[in-house]
Amino acid sequence: MKKHNFSAGPSILAPEVIENTAKAVRDLNGIGLSIMEISHRGKDFQAVIDETVALFKEILEIPEGYHVLFLGGGASMQFCMIPYNLLAFKAAYLETGSWAKKAIKEAKLFGNVEVVGSSADKNYNYIPRGYVIPEDADYFHVTTNNTIFGTEIKEDLDSPVPLIADMSSDIFSRPMDVSKYGVIYGGAQKNLGPAGVTFVIIKEELLGKVSRQIPTMIDYRTHIEKESMFNTPPCLPIYTCMETLRWIKKLGGLEKMKQRNDEKAKIIYDEIDRNSMFVGSAEEASRSIMNACFVMKPDYKDLEKDFLEFATQNNIVGIKGHRSVGGFRASIYNAMSIDSVKVLVDIMKKFEKKHAK
Ligand SMILES: *Cc1c(COP(=O)(O)O)cnc(C)c1O
Repeated sequence: MKKHNFSAGPSILAPEVIENTAKAVRDLNGIGLSIMEISHRGKDFQAVIDETVALFKEILEIPEGYHVLFLGGGASMQFCMIPYNLLAFKAAYLETGSWAKKAIKEAKLFGNVEVVGSSADKNYNYIPRGYVIPEDADYFHVTTNNTIFGTEIKEDLDSPVPLIADMSSDIFSRPMDVSKYGVIYGGAQKNLGPAGVTFVIIKEELLGKVSRQIPTMIDYRTHIEKESMFNTPPCLPIYTCMETLRWIKKLGGLEKMKQRNDEKAKIIYDEIDRNSMFVGSAEEASRSIMNACFVMKPDYKDLEKDFLEFATQNNIVGIKGHRSVGGFRASIYNAMSIDSVKVLVDIMKKFEKKHAK
């Protein structure tokens, strides 16, 4: 029996995406070869990457002047590629969690970093407000969804300098205005596909402004010029991303994704707030629609293990919270069904009936 997969990443994919990928692994479009055993330079793979780029552009309504790249190295590689290519003098960063901190650490290797706002004082349980973005920064970097802490910047920010966003865990979760960003990047394994491919949406005019030497593989211009084919791209993960994008389009695009995601988030947060045993980890206004983090109230702390066990018995997996927050985290990415969220809510209710004082 298929489990209810609330894992934070790599995470749930739509059943038909997995089914269609399995077919392509056996035989791609009836050509008698697997997607895994064909040249990335042949026409069959070219069609896959072309369609994936086209679907990115169509679904996100990416304007002219941007390129869509598929690279290796994970979102973590972008933490260094961004400053390597774009940081000439000073960059501004918003410190909203572990991933933001890692991005800041890399940027400091390449220039001055101004952390304009931080929620470290409350273990990153909110999105900082009222900060000022310096106009002389080369760019402003944010993590839109903080996968570990369950907070999210749910709108496209205004920035006087190019806005750069790590959207690893909320890309394609809502309609957005790409024109407000200079770079959007992320690992595929949260909301798009399997691990192994990183997407980068980049505005070409930002490049070529730093004076340092850039190694060929680190230079975005290499990958723009060769259309992600300078070296062998992660062919199979790209194929699965294409299937996910077909699925998103078929379901009705980003408006539909947002509607579904808002509905799922409401169901789970309503229960967290109602249930006498649990409490949400993130401040209400900052809550993520992708990762709902919650803990047991102090009176019930010793029952955390029992709840995890009860969840497991009911076919629910992946809800153990990250060690830096503790408690539980229900990741409810695009592919998560409303029915699975209802199953989780149901066991929270049953657990309360059994154990509440
Ligand atoms: C998972 C995650 C990362 C790290 O991605 P890798 O592909 O493992 O490098 C970075 N940022 C965010 C927001 C994430 O959720």
